[in-house]
Amino acid sequence: MKVVVLGAGIIGISTAWYLLEQGHEVTVVDRQDDAALETSFANGAQISVCFCEPWANAGAPFKVAKWLLRDDSPLLFRPRLDPAQWRWGLSFLTQCTTAAFERNVESLVQLGRYSHASLKALVNETGIEYDRIERGILHFFSSQEDFDNGVAAAEIMRSHGVDRRVLDHDQVLEIEPALAGFQGRVYGGTYTPSDESGDARVFTQKLARLCAERGATFLYGHDVLGLERQGQSISSVQIRSRATGRAEALKADAFVTAMASYTPALLKPLGEFLNIYPAKGYSATLKLKKPEAASVVSLLDDTRKIAISRLGDSIRIAGTAELSGFDLNLNSATAKVRCDALVRRYEELFPGVADLSERNYWTGLRPSTPTNIPYIGRSKKASNLWINAGHGTLGWTHGAGSGRALAELMAGRRPEMDFGFYGDVQTAAPIRSMATA
Ligand SMILES: Cc1cc2nc3c(=O)[nH]c(=O)nc-3n(C[C@H](O)[C@H](O)[C@H](O)COP(=O)(O)OP(=O)(O)OC[C@H]3O[C@@H](n4cnc5c(N)ncnc54)[C@H](O)[C@@H]3O)c2cc1C
Repeated sequence: MKVVVLGAGIIGISTAWYLLEQGHEVTVVDRQDDAALETSFANGAQISVCFCEPWANAGAPFKVAKWLLRDDSPLLFRPRLDPAQWRWGLSFLTQCTTAAFERNVESLVQLGRYSHASLKALVNETGIEYDRIERGILHFFSSQEDFDNGVAAAEIMRSHGVDRRVLDHDQVLEIEPALAGFQGRVYGGTYTPSDESGDARVFTQKLARLCAERGATFLYGHDVLGLERQGQSISSVQIRSRATGRAEALKADAFVTAMASYTPALLKPLGEFLNIYPAKGYSATLKLKKPEAASVVSLLDDTRKIAISRLGDSIRIAGTAELSGFDLNLNSATAKVRCDALVRRYEELFPGVADLSERNYWTGLRPSTPTNIPYIGRSKKASNLWINAGHGTLGWTHGAGSGRALAELMAGRRPEMDFGFYGDVQTAAPIRSMATA
């Protein structure tokens, strides 16, 4: 069976891998020259099954209002004349209730568990190395009030079956002794021992190479322009080479869209509406001057809402969110403020540990839904069109599982988790029979 996967980020490549396992003939199309050169490039590196709370909760509107328009706030909203932005914002507000939060957390925990099991099995099978560290995630707090909120959050997550432990100051330092150099006070922390970290770009690119060895074709440097519908299904996808400018129609039996924040625009002409909006984030990657003094356990700093992950002899500091459209500019004043703030905070926490003379700054667009739950399933407008997009803050965490789940759905099987898949998948016909139809 011929399947074309559109997008070579963690989601598209994971999907390609599991489709190849099922014996399909897979072609992957991406505008970049390699896999994982957009959002999956330099993220926070956390496999964060147990810290998966969506942004939308009962207290979020108050917090967002407080942060509104402050250049160094964790969440920045830049109002635009963009109906998609306002629709997303209003929909986000409807998710800011305790009932919606509980519902969304449950789905995210389910997908996270399934995905973590899938990732572990995949790594065991392939032996891919990607600076993986299986030491959990430690969330630490620099004020009593924040710590009290963290303790309450841990209790809620434990009611969803998640192992999130509450630690006092000394226990935090036992888990991550490198925090002893911090001059400010650590009031306590919460810790999820089963979580882990690793480089999403390295993983995705290595998995893409293995897909190629298994026979997948890669059309890098090709823009996806549009889908051609014939009756109830898609007959081809229009693509254009960036090198030659030549356009062509790629035919297949089934198509998977895994183009992150760019997926809604592709599907809109079909009448399919996906509520995915880009939430811009930043990261700074620094070489370590004193690796022996640097943190090893992946960290969440509550004060700045940033993730800190060790990647070999480097440290990655990532965070902040900006709802300001598709702008990927790293040279604006705001971008500079936000990237410098990441480094400044790192230096405060771990003075003298990193080499600040060479700062690798990066920005990416989290493909965010108001619930933080991705669209995984079948298009409502075309029977051989499948969607894997909208993974927001957790695409690395949910990558392997989302790929495997979609391949299962396409084979007409329901993945083993309690999750609201998109579209009419309960009665999904396996793609084998669709092709012969
Ligand atoms: C600052 C930051 C920190 C993060 N930290 C974490 C973390 O710690 N843990 C975690 O789990 N997640 C994290 N995330 C989220 C995670 O990085 C994303 O959810 C994930 O990378 C999305 O993967 P994707 O494959 O959907 O998107 P992408 O990696 O962006 O892949 C989509 C692909 O589609 C291609 N494409 C798009 N449009 C077209 C077109 N028209 N033609 C051709 N190709 C096209 C792009 O080139 C791209 O390669 C973070 C994100 C950010 C921004």
